[in-house]
Amino acid sequence: MSDLRELYQEVIVDHNRHPRNFRENAAATRKIEGYNPLCGDKLTLFLELDNGVIKDISFVGTGCAISMASASLMTEALKGKTEEQARAIFDRFHTLVTQDKGGAVDEDQLGKLAIFAGVREFPTRVKCATLAWHTLQAALEGNKEAISTE
Ligand code: ZN
Repeated sequence: MSDLRELYQEVIVDHNRHPRNFRENAAATRKIEGYNPLCGDKLTLFLELDNGVIKDISFVGTGCAISMASASLMTEALKGKTEEQARAIFDRFHTLVTQDKGGAVDEDQLGKLAIFAGVREFPTRVKCATLAWHTLQAALEGNKEAISTE
């Protein structure tokens, strides 16, 4: 188990240092800011939708390693997915990080995102891990106002 934990740690460190899809997108059809005042995490999400498909998803921002890695992994997981698939992955991810231990989430279905299961033991970090996802959800709903986890 400790090997696994180390591996998870490495993925988070890697994505924090070299966030994927970390760029603005002038062609984005939706752009929204998310803020987690508890930790100071701040990001702007760019979503380019084409006929209900996420053609491109990217972000810029600053924050702790968990928030940056979570946003980075989220963009990797969602590019090319339909809005419906994205919502389903959001639900699964949200359950993963908020459920009580022993709850049933198929971690295989989440792929690399499953590494965030560990944050459920640290309630203050859950908001770091879910910031990008709540911002995504707001973007899918067509909100334009900045969102806050508080
Ligand atoms: Zn944070």
